[in-house]
Amino acid sequence: MARKLDIKSAGPQTLAVHGGEKPDTTTGASSPSIVMSSTFLTDGPEEFSAYGMTEDTPYLYTRWANPTVNALEAKIAAFEGAEACQCFASGMAAASAIFLSLLKAGDHVIVADVCYAAIAELSRDILPRFGIEVSYVNLSDEDAFRSALRDTTRLVFIDTPSNPIIRLTDIRAISRLAHEAGALVAVDNTFATPVGTRPLELGADLVMHSATKYLCGHGDAMGGAVAGSKKLIQILQGDAAIHYGGVMSPFNAWLIARGAATLPIRMRAHQETALAVAKFLENHPKIERVFYPGLPSHPQYELARQQMANFSAMMSFRIRGNAKDGRALAHRLAEKLDIIHYAVSLGHHRSLLCWMQTDELLASSFRVDGKAEDSYRHFAGDGIFRFSVGLEDADDLCKDLDRAL
Ligand SMILES: *Cc1c(COP(=O)(O)O)cnc(C)c1O
Repeated sequence: MARKLDIKSAGPQTLAVHGGEKPDTTTGASSPSIVMSSTFLTDGPEEFSAYGMTEDTPYLYTRWANPTVNALEAKIAAFEGAEACQCFASGMAAASAIFLSLLKAGDHVIVADVCYAAIAELSRDILPRFGIEVSYVNLSDEDAFRSALRDTTRLVFIDTPSNPIIRLTDIRAISRLAHEAGALVAVDNTFATPVGTRPLELGADLVMHSATKYLCGHGDAMGGAVAGSKKLIQILQGDAAIHYGGVMSPFNAWLIARGAATLPIRMRAHQETALAVAKFLENHPKIERVFYPGLPSHPQYELARQQMANFSAMMSFRIRGNAKDGRALAHRLAEKLDIIHYAVSLGHHRSLLCWMQTDELLASSFRVDGKAEDSYRHFAGDGIFRFSVGLEDADDLCKDLDRAL
């Protein structure tokens, strides 16, 4: 049963199914078992410090490493074309691992001015307490990025397509400029998924996921992951997993790996349904504007075609009217939709939709002003509906929306 998967030559669907998995040599089970054990028997005294850990260290304790979590890490590394991957308890545990393991007092970090709200708040309110300086930059504006770079810039954090306005960042261009300035680049690839975008191939150093979303795909497990070089992932494992302790449970790793096996085929179906729904919305009299990277009307459609092999199924749309009309419609949709769930989160097989009012978001999460605020409002207006198109029939989703709009 000594089977060996050639990661270099296998296609993405084969990697999704078999990546990280080995049949159980004792039982012959074809599906992976879950190893829930928190501790492991050893041959005698072992090193008790994370600093003594090497690739040959046997399993000792699940916060250090666990076979089921390791299997998911190998699958995600294969997806991203990465040397290594470290999983965490949530996407936020993965994001905070990047910031708090790679930065120190006196360092400067550039964070996308529009990104996942909790990442915006973490970097704005918590990093400065540790003496880390933070700038927020519209990373679709290369001039703005260039002028924000400092001698002390150590890290650039990209979110593309950005949550919730679906604005894209050119990963290759920003990575080149960041590297010239001596900074590392991390990309939040949650929306695009590795089926759509492969940030490491475009020059990024680290790629991060909320595995709660498309990787899991079924809305029933929280998790996070960071993939990159062995050297960087080892730092995250030592500092963040072993010492901060926000590790993924083996049960969640098992669920997420089960979902991840179908990621490539799910993403094809997600894209097909999303495109049909986006076109329906674009032609609906109550809708003013739809932002979906797969629509030629997206302001960065050319970049989307270069950078995304799959346009995923995240879109936002704006209705005709003001913020009050948007809020009223949000209430109506929550009450009237029969198929689509009015709920936060994304990347599930169920369609999820929610309203995001611009003034509220700018007061709470994104403190953009001047040109950056103009760019935000160019996309979002007074507010937008963020729509994660699921795997239902496009026709049923359109009818559900049409009835409620
Ligand atoms: C959900 C999300 C996160 C945070 O992940 P959790 O698993 O909820 O902690 C980070 N980035 C993006 C883009 C997300 O959608």
